[in-house]
Amino acid sequence: MIHRKHPKGAPRGIGMTSQGTRDRLVRRLREHGIRDEDVLRAIASTPRHEFVDEALSSRAYEDTALPIGLGQTISQPWVVARMTEAVLDGGSPDKVLEVGTGSGYQAAILASLIPQVFTVERIEELLKLARRRFHKLGLKNIYTRHADGHLGWPSQAPFDGIIVTAAAIQVPIELIRQLRVGAVLVAPIERRGMQRLLAIRRTEEGYDEEDLGGVIFVPMLSGLS
Ligand code: SAH
Repeated sequence: MIHRKHPKGAPRGIGMTSQGTRDRLVRRLREHGIRDEDVLRAIASTPRHEFVDEALSSRAYEDTALPIGLGQTISQPWVVARMTEAVLDGGSPDKVLEVGTGSGYQAAILASLIPQVFTVERIEELLKLARRRFHKLGLKNIYTRHADGHLGWPSQAPFDGIIVTAAAIQVPIELIRQLRVGAVLVAPIERRGMQRLLAIRRTEEGYDEEDLGGVIFVPMLSGLS
């Protein structure tokens, strides 16, 4: 469970970042088909406003993606919830990998559900901010790395689940190799000019695919920045 720290003197329970506002978001996610109670609880207890610029904090509990600078976005809560559900569907994972730390929000949600979360980001500046947030929120089970996520995190493989939060033009084979048999990789993949959210389950022989619907993500890029 996440331990939230309120700055001294900060108002609790009122305003656009209150628990009530967060609970409204959870109700909306439930109405839009999110069923996993653990995932809903994680969303209810994670302060999304801590993951965006202060100027945007009043919009943090809208079910929408928001800019986080450097041309990147924090994912829409529904998408975060759906991806988390899909990765938990691979059993009860002990160790997951996220590609695309961004604001750190998705990693924080995973960290309240899974013992070990590994996350890689190619933009150092974003990673620094995310690390600061993990520290502030007391999230000690998130391991970060400034790296190109196409390569995964070989020394920590195999993973019990992998979440890719940037859109790739094809299923990243190296990531599938780092997945335990039976585990799920969730990723937005371009198909016929559109992005589809795919849940890819590794099997003994190869992998199976399930299409979870259309999504919009920033592109997965190569190299470091
Ligand atoms: N999970 C994030 C979403 C961030 S948007 C959140 O919850 O806020 C996607 C992120 O993927 C961006 O920060 C982008 O820089 C990063 N990204 C894109 N290509 C990447 C790559 N090859 N390796 C690692 N990160 C990548």
